[in-house]
Amino acid sequence: MSDYRIGTKCVQGGYTPGNGEPRQIPIVQSTTFKYSTSEDMGKLFDLEAEGYFYTRLQNPTNDYVAAKIAEMEGGTAAMLTSSGQAANFFAMFNICQAGDHMVASSSIYGGTYNLIAVTMAKMGISVTFVSPDATEEELNAAFQPNTKLMFGETIANPALTVLDIELFAKVAHAHGVPLIVDNTFPTPVNCRPIEWGADIVTHSTTKYMDGHGAAVGGAIVDGGKFDWMAYADKYPGLCTPDDSYHGVVYAERFGKEGAFITKCTTQLMRDLGSIQSPQNAFYLNLGLESLHVRMPRHVENGQAVAEFLENHPKVAYVNYSGLKSSKYYERAQKYLPNGGCGVVSFGLKGGREAASIFMRELKLGAIETHVADARTCCLNPATSTHRQMTDEQLIEAGVPAELIRISLGLEDKEDLIADISRALDAIK
Ligand SMILES: *Cc1c(COP(=O)(O)O)cnc(C)c1O
Repeated sequence: MSDYRIGTKCVQGGYTPGNGEPRQIPIVQSTTFKYSTSEDMGKLFDLEAEGYFYTRLQNPTNDYVAAKIAEMEGGTAAMLTSSGQAANFFAMFNICQAGDHMVASSSIYGGTYNLIAVTMAKMGISVTFVSPDATEEELNAAFQPNTKLMFGETIANPALTVLDIELFAKVAHAHGVPLIVDNTFPTPVNCRPIEWGADIVTHSTTKYMDGHGAAVGGAIVDGGKFDWMAYADKYPGLCTPDDSYHGVVYAERFGKEGAFITKCTTQLMRDLGSIQSPQNAFYLNLGLESLHVRMPRHVENGQAVAEFLENHPKVAYVNYSGLKSSKYYERAQKYLPNGGCGVVSFGLKGGREAASIFMRELKLGAIETHVADARTCCLNPATSTHRQMTDEQLIEAGVPAELIRISLGLEDKEDLIADISRALDAIK
């Protein structure tokens, strides 16, 4: 599959049925798997043979879909998780532990920010947040001897900043640590971070990959290039025997290509059990089959609405990296030449009150705490998710009172613009 283009991988990657086997990926709705002898099963436990024994760790449906995502991202191995939160947590916790430190972009999804700043802090893992626009010098200054990874989002949710992946990867590698990139918003259709030097890629598959608002899920992909053994003292979990798994040394047994995902499956999935259900993996695959057809339409609608808003007298500003006026336009041209995604944010001159009227008047754009599916939806953080904050606190959090985030779906852009135009007219 590796020679095929992205669209072909979306449709046919990961699963090649044999003679007389199901054409569609089968849903293996079974918690467990049968063996003839204990010796057969023992080989699985010793990681000497490949196979399935319990769906908390691995399931064939998930593995077909994960293999497709690995091919799409240009990685060597992948796994599915129950959510995007689980994907980011597992990707980080697989290589750091109490006493370790990470460097993360400050412009990331709120849930991931809390995961790192609150929950992982309680586990003894510390963080230095950096601006996604930091210089090489500033990034270097954030590193400590105990830093184990660097993290950022290709296009941040909801700030829509664009990450300089090449620069982040260069700095991470200069310090002998991998770069983990959450590639949820552009998806591998619009950006493949591994090609720009990222080592691990994560996804909330809940968003465009599923694309229909049907199933919560996540994915982790390993680029297979980071040389763990070259930094064996930093990554004892990968480079020294795992006593909880019959003394296996993951980096030796599975090499650069397989060590990360194998450890993440056999240790973290085993102990923390956050696997995606095979049924959800099946839905996810249905979404993946049309991802390359849907993403250009999301981008087309995002671009059209962003341009319309930018020229509207009631709109104060628009954030969308496809606009020439965007601070991220140049960077987006480099990393996202076919466009980024269908999420746009903008501010109304009339502030909080205008935002509330606009949202009430919209007919096609439903009010939801969701983004990136087939139906257009929008959110005014100040009157919903962030309503406990004062106007000053909202500005500090990067979500001023007038800010509206709108996720353009797959509808006809003429209808979307007419709906938005009418709602803007209702503001007096
Ligand atoms: C939604 C989201 C997450 C969290 O994903 P869930 O599937 O909701 O757990 C992580 N990162 C980004 C960029 C997101 O948009």
